[in-house]
Amino acid sequence: MLNTVELKRQLEKDSDTLVQDTIDIIGDNHIATSKDTPLRPDAFDISDKEKIKLIAAKFKDIMEIMGLDLTDDSLKGTPNRVAKMYIEEVFSGLNPANKPDIKLFENKYQYNQMLVEKNITLHSYCEHHFVPILGHAHVAYISNGHVIGLSKINRIVRYFAKRPQVQERLTEQIAQELKHILKTEDVAVMIDAEHLCVSTRGIEDTNSSTVTAHYSGKFLEKDVKSEFLAYIQG
Ligand SMILES: [Zn+2]
Repeated sequence: MLNTVELKRQLEKDSDTLVQDTIDIIGDNHIATSKDTPLRPDAFDISDKEKIKLIAAKFKDIMEIMGLDLTDDSLKGTPNRVAKMYIEEVFSGLNPANKPDIKLFENKYQYNQMLVEKNITLHSYCEHHFVPILGHAHVAYISNGHVIGLSKINRIVRYFAKRPQVQERLTEQIAQELKHILKTEDVAVMIDAEHLCVSTRGIEDTNSSTVTAHYSGKFLEKDVKSEFLAYIQG
């Protein structure tokens, strides 16, 4: 545990308030800086097990700084529980080793119409506040001769959702991955989600949701887009 003198020293070191203010503004406006998740080049130099150990120690510091007594039976397991949850569950999509292995099948039925999978459960985390984003994804594609199993679409959505995210980037990442796997540009992705950083803090608006969409290929055509929208509204 850091003692008060060390904490104060750390505070003096981090007193570049102007920079901090700018960072706060960017975060609250949920501005994304890149289409790719910003990862350090050494992101996977240490194992998941080591990461859990390191995060647990840091999280213990956070709790103690807030004044919580970690000798309490109810609290003492929390740092390790949070660390495990970060690495093995809610942020497991950061690690490419967890990327779903998707097999492509020949489209034997010659079904070359639109395929829509709607209301895919989506649980992600806002990268600016580290609180949940809860909603649904609607995904569609038009096969150019290849298809994938339906549950694989859920798995792709889940993989990219399990990262610190901004909704726009998440939408793009799912669309790009589907195009890559299905070898077609004819893909649409829509996400409708509630951001807990909007509903439980800040403006505390529990009614609003955020909608983002990616249309490409044939989905840019008005009729095709309308057909997709009719399916997901129906
Ligand atoms: Zn947020």
